[in-house]
Amino acid sequence: MTANKILFIVLDGISDRPSPALGGLTPLAAARKPVLDRLAKEGICGIMDTIAAGVRPGSDTAHLALLGYDPYKYYTGRGPLECEGTGIHMEPGMIGFRCNYATISREGIITDRRAGRIHDTAALSMALTEGVDLSGYGVEFAFRSGAGHRAALALRGEGLGHCVSSNDPKKDGVFPLAVKPLKPVAADEKTAVVCNEFIRQSTGILYDHPLNKERVKNGLNPANIVLMRGAGEMGHFEPFSIRYGISGSVISAASLISGIGSALGLTRVPVTGITGSQDSNITGKIAAAITELKTRDFVLVNIKGADESGHDGLAEQKRNFIEKTDTALAPLLDLPDCIIVICADHSTPCTIKDHSADPVPVLIHGDGVRIDDVAGFDEYLCAGGGLNRITGAALLPTALDLINKAHKFGA
Ligand code: ZN
Ligand code: ZN
Repeated sequence: MTANKILFIVLDGISDRPSPALGGLTPLAAARKPVLDRLAKEGICGIMDTIAAGVRPGSDTAHLALLGYDPYKYYTGRGPLECEGTGIHMEPGMIGFRCNYATISREGIITDRRAGRIHDTAALSMALTEGVDLSGYGVEFAFRSGAGHRAALALRGEGLGHCVSSNDPKKDGVFPLAVKPLKPVAADEKTAVVCNEFIRQSTGILYDHPLNKERVKNGLNPANIVLMRGAGEMGHFEPFSIRYGISGSVISAASLISGIGSALGLTRVPVTGITGSQDSNITGKIAAAITELKTRDFVLVNIKGADESGHDGLAEQKRNFIEKTDTALAPLLDLPDCIIVICADHSTPCTIKDHSADPVPVLIHGDGVRIDDVAGFDEYLCAGGGLNRITGAALLPTALDLINKAHKFGA
């Protein structure tokens, strides 16, 4: 029998280094995780350099690599992918920025770079969309709210460059910076001028917006300035369906990951109660993935919480989240007709609170895999598995071969 579908479960940042808080084990090795262990036992395992040995991946470059899009060729910065993540359709050549709402004082000093962790900014983003006018520069723009205080800005127009600095001083108590061209090039100079004009007009609109007046009255920090960074020019992505001849969907709370999915033409599947954090509705994600597989050939699910614990340096919390995730993965044990791939996108060691280049564990489960001797899913056991040490670029082709969708090279 040959399976017809592929399910990628990316356990974001789940991979780790030995933790003193867990008696020298990694959170994954310390966790009770019968489902992952059984899938590993019934499948083939290995370790993986998502991009290359010694390269510390971002989640964005890692996911591009896992989907078979060489990040060195396709990655043009986080901004355009964040724009896609908020629902802005980016066309090649558009300039995208990741933004956040922040608070400035009457004197113009930044007092809170997250605007009191404001939640619902849709009305503010709508006011900017309607109120800001960049037509004098021949530029159209789209501005959309993301999760929490986050947002994204996209510019479209002739002669715009993407090599510009941020207006974010990265600390409170100082004035915002002017956006500047990083090179003395007319296109970058034009973008910088347009960005500064956007900031000038938007601050005027936000400062007097009723929602902000209400926030001030309630003792909350108003969201009265937009900070922008991560400028990038949208590249051309060959659609996933054309590249591989299969249809696909993405399920993720992280807008960056769903943005990558959108950029590749994957369908975004909304799930209620997903947060990208410890309290996320993982059960709902897995249920949605199983439903989606009825009509799609490929589904990617990103589960983010372990990465967050890694960044916070909380090894016990990370172990507990892994145990919660494992329980939610139980329906995968009886999933018919599917190659299940489970991996991390990178390590996020609690001891360094950031991504590292340590290879990540990976397992492939389903009809046709050559089952190896690995009896559990963690960084140590998987290192002895039949996949050996692979790169992220090899993962999807390996899965495609298992569903007989790999191209034959030669006669
Ligand atoms: Zn990640
Ligand atoms: Zn991370």
